Amino acid sequence: MDHDIPALHGGRPMRKTMLAYGQQWLDEADIESVVQVLRGDFITQGPKISEFEGKVAAYAGVRFAVAFSSGTGALHGACFAAGIGSGDEVITTPMTFLASSNCILYQGGTPIFADIKPDTYNIDPEEIERLLTSRTKAIIPVDFTGQPVEIDSIMDLANRHNLTVIHDAAHSFGAEYKGKKIGTWAHMTMFSFHPVKHVTTGEGGVIVTDDETFYRKLLLFRNHGITKDPEVLWKNDGPWYYEMQELGYHYRITDMQAALGVSQMDKLDDFVQRRRDIAHYYSETLRGIDGISVPEQHPDALSSWHLYVIRLDLDKFSVSRKELFEALRAENIGVHVHYIPVHLQPYYQKLGYTKGICPIAEDMYQRILTLPLFPRMTDNDIRDVVAAVHKVLRYYLISSTN
Ligand SMILES: *Cc1c(COP(=O)(O)O)cnc(C)c1O
Repeated sequence: MDHDIPALHGGRPMRKTMLAYGQQWLDEADIESVVQVLRGDFITQGPKISEFEGKVAAYAGVRFAVAFSSGTGALHGACFAAGIGSGDEVITTPMTFLASSNCILYQGGTPIFADIKPDTYNIDPEEIERLLTSRTKAIIPVDFTGQPVEIDSIMDLANRHNLTVIHDAAHSFGAEYKGKKIGTWAHMTMFSFHPVKHVTTGEGGVIVTDDETFYRKLLLFRNHGITKDPEVLWKNDGPWYYEMQELGYHYRITDMQAALGVSQMDKLDDFVQRRRDIAHYYSETLRGIDGISVPEQHPDALSSWHLYVIRLDLDKFSVSRKELFEALRAENIGVHVHYIPVHLQPYYQKLGYTKGICPIAEDMYQRILTLPLFPRMTDNDIRDVVAAVHKVLRYYLISSTN
């Protein structure tokens, strides 16, 4: 039958237009919020930034939030605030976006990659413990796909060894661990506002924290290391006077972006719920298909589902992951691969990281596929994804009857 033949081999594609793997959802209120700023006096350092920070801090349940021009800049700021410098080791996961590890390099620190757990794909606390040395300064765990890491064990470990935990929660805004929101667990927590993430400011990120010392350092770092705070000035020449006390960067977010963030925050819970519903539907309809595994959930973790990643049992297919990927793309399903393990990147290889240091992550990389997942997907989009996965996988499955 024609509809059983993959589009890659000349059949009719499942959809006429490409379905992205992730995408923002903006409504008229979002647009109006930005336009109001454009009509006002301040398009950059105005009142919307602290309003946005206040909303994020209240949502996360913490005292302080400092917004940055990107999640990457926010992580860089957190590494500065944690005092990471040359000679310091920081343990993170290879199964992440580059920023989780690059921020360590920016500060002159040394990333140490701890392997992941084969079920949740999150960093393994036992691996962290095994890699601790007298030089370990901090841990940067990542809630891969939106499923929280075992943050209680990681905090125990950190507190016993006097380490700072910078929680990369770019995937897990709105997620919970043991019934408690992500944002309150670690010393500092980062959320990203890139358009594929839970809420967007175009580009942007934030660090939330309960620690006032970190908060003050983050403020300095975001703005060239400049302060006008009379309490900390070395001297004071007059009302114009400011001091640069640290080497900071220009990592400020704009009022235009913060206005979008303020409006997007009103929808965060609905967006997370929609993501959970889609993920639930995927798991219910894909579980039991020969040749794939749906994501496993830790009993203490309540994911906010940034990504939906399936694992392929490659022995059961007549083709490689690459061809399955291409076949799904030909159906106009925008599948993706998250992630290429960081230590396998040429830059990291040049630094001396070798293949084989994180065998579970490396094996996992060969088998994963990310399915489209974003709140604006229609029920039809969701059914298209499931139907295309069925169609393509069935076509290439090696018959189990012989
Ligand atoms: C998105 C993301 C970041 C930050 O990215 P920005 O694009 O700089 O906001 C950091 N870590 C992870 C795991 C991410 O997915």
